[in-house]
Amino acid sequence: MIAYKTAEYGIRVEDVNPAFSSQTCSKCGHQSSTNRDSDTGWFACNECGYELDGDYNAVAGLRPAGSKVA
Ligand SMILES: [Zn+2]
Repeated sequence: MIAYKTAEYGIRVEDVNPAFSSQTCSKCGHQSSTNRDSDTGWFACNECGYELDGDYNAVAGLRPAGSKVA
């Protein structure tokens, strides 16, 4: 709950939480539980409008910028 609240106020949490990675935009970094549709798994960022498959977004968010998904 602490991590969720700090994220809400824009404070970066150092360790990467896989649960949050699925809710975090891999394009702009916006994190919200409402970014991802829990029924379809589809990810749509509330901040920048970026959309993609939720699982792919989570993987992309965990990889360093510029690296390619094999
Ligand atoms: Zn975004």
